[in-house]
Amino acid sequence: MTTTQAHGDRKELAERAGRELEDASALEVLTWAAETFGPKFCVTSSMEDAVVAHLASRVMPGVDVVFLDTGYHFEETIGTRDAVEALMDVNLLTLLPCRTVAEQDAVYGPKLHDRDPDLCCALRKVGPLDAGLAGYDAWATGLRRDESPTRAGTPVVGWDGKRGKVKISPIARWTQDDVDAYVAEHGVLTNPLLMDGYASVGCAPCTRRVAEGEDARAGRWAGRGKTECGLHG
Ligand code: SF4
Repeated sequence: MTTTQAHGDRKELAERAGRELEDASALEVLTWAAETFGPKFCVTSSMEDAVVAHLASRVMPGVDVVFLDTGYHFEETIGTRDAVEALMDVNLLTLLPCRTVAEQDAVYGPKLHDRDPDLCCALRKVGPLDAGLAGYDAWATGLRRDESPTRAGTPVVGWDGKRGKVKISPIARWTQDDVDAYVAEHGVLTNPLLMDGYASVGCAPCTRRVAEGEDARAGRWAGRGKTECGLHG
């Protein structure tokens, strides 16, 4: 049954579900999300791959998949977004920052990402996602515990206190091998950059290839003392 709970109830629900679903499969977690939140549930995707969108579409055909177009994406990322929209049973929604890159440059000067990446991410990622998620009670991400030390404690279901929403990470317990196996078994769309030395794909100015042995997110904001964009803080 689909219900929309009050803020406090949703927090308690999230924390209880996080305990009860810790050992559940990704499909079981997403089935719970679909049954609990219905159209108030969405998946967010960076278009690094479409694994979570694919899983969600199996339990909730036509599920909303939210993509944040920062204006700084690689063309391969936009191509992946377009392919997901054309080929998968999802409702693709693209969020845009309130200013184009040119408008931001006019206000803050060019290459804000090099001078103040936290502000750039706040303007081009965090603000637009906060606005885009306003109509939902729960959102799913592709966060995995093995991606980096900062993600090692990611709950399968948790409480996003900043936004007052239930945050679901159905593949939190997966490894890269699990992702690769799912992609191979189901022919899931992936960003071509993953075959070109990139282990994690973000905005072009802030993403580099990773070396053998580096963790997946080492190529994000390399050398800038930053590891997360603020979406998951
Ligand atoms: Fe700006 Fe880089 Fe953040 Fe993208 S990842 S919003 S370019 S600082």
